Amino acid sequence: SGGGNVRVVVRVRGFLPREIERGAANLIEMDPRNQSTTLHPPPPDSAKANARKVMDKKVFTFDNSFWSFNRHDDHYADQDDVYDALGEEFLDHNFEGYHTCIFAYGQTGAGKSYSMMGTPEHPGLIPRTCRDLFERIESNNSPSVNYSVRVSYFEVYNEHVRDLLVPRRDPPYYLKVRESPTEGPYIKDLTEVPVRGIAEVLKWMKMGDNSRTVASTRMNDTSSRSHAVFTLVLKQIHHDIDTDETTERVARIRLVDLAGSERANSTGATGARLREGSNINKSLTTLGRVIAALADDPPQKRGGRKKEVVPYRDSILTWLLKDSLGGNSKTAMIACISPSDYDETLSTLRYADQAKRIRTRAVVNQDHLS
Ligand code: ADP
Ligand code: MG
Repeated sequence: SGGGNVRVVVRVRGFLPREIERGAANLIEMDPRNQSTTLHPPPPDSAKANARKVMDKKVFTFDNSFWSFNRHDDHYADQDDVYDALGEEFLDHNFEGYHTCIFAYGQTGAGKSYSMMGTPEHPGLIPRTCRDLFERIESNNSPSVNYSVRVSYFEVYNEHVRDLLVPRRDPPYYLKVRESPTEGPYIKDLTEVPVRGIAEVLKWMKMGDNSRTVASTRMNDTSSRSHAVFTLVLKQIHHDIDTDETTERVARIRLVDLAGSERANSTGATGARLREGSNINKSLTTLGRVIAALADDPPQKRGGRKKEVVPYRDSILTWLLKDSLGGNSKTAMIACISPSDYDETLSTLRYADQAKRIRTRAVVNQDHLS
């Protein structure tokens, strides 16, 4: 059945050079036996810790805890492990006809883009999903199934939608969001290209990635301040030779790399950056409110008391992700954390913990054509 909780996994990365330089301490511990993640308070000798009252260790349990801290550890999780534990199963669901969504959440520099897009040497969930998708299509020799795949890629930046596949050179630079009674929210005039193989889809993926809006902040010079949404639509037309019946299954595969979750003021942002920050916060704070409303409103309670109004339409991002968050989708969240940042990590883990309570209602998207 398609009713299920949002899958929530957590991933911790290793130290970056700047953290090694300042002698940062690792505050994260993961137990591979029970998937628990423990956040320890910073060592008492650090100046920051002295200014505080009590900081306790906090223990959380998620569907998976990916330890990507030290390659030499037994339970080290590389890009392959993340794909095997999550991406592959979600692609199975797509072939069954379900919509899926995987989104990466966390502070700037915590590993969202690494997990979603990755690097040329260590490709992440997006290129792996594309590769696996076409491998499965190509290995199916049955003449009764016909496949087609389309791709789109956009970003929400400063509460505006930008097409990443064919960015507009002249005004209007941004696309408008509309809502159809049958299809829900959609982006008007968004480029959707048919792709016939892995080389084509990777070409578009790279082009789109290059057009992402990148601005530097003090926390991470190459961090992106935008929410990027990469979407594949898989259509399968199945013709049953015995019954002469034709059915169509359509599945949407949504892979989302959110902007950094840190508060605008903690990055030392000013002026235009700050304005962007507050708008980014608008989408992220709304996402937080949407998650809180959905987490408080499990289906068994519905009807029992007045249903909470979920504020999807309060930001562009939540409006567009409405279905993925609380509707027809199997959805997962990857909470990305850095190893030595108590406050931001605690806030990410709490956010993720709340997301575990959300239930979506996915259905197989199938139509009989004849
Ligand atoms: P974000 O997108 O959350 O701002 P990035 O994905 O850009 O963060 O990660 C910040 C830096 O850490 C990058 O240099 C990235 O390559 C590296 N990094 C992140 N996660 C991992 C990981 N699991 N293993 C190795 N390097 C990582
Ligand atoms: Mg990033």
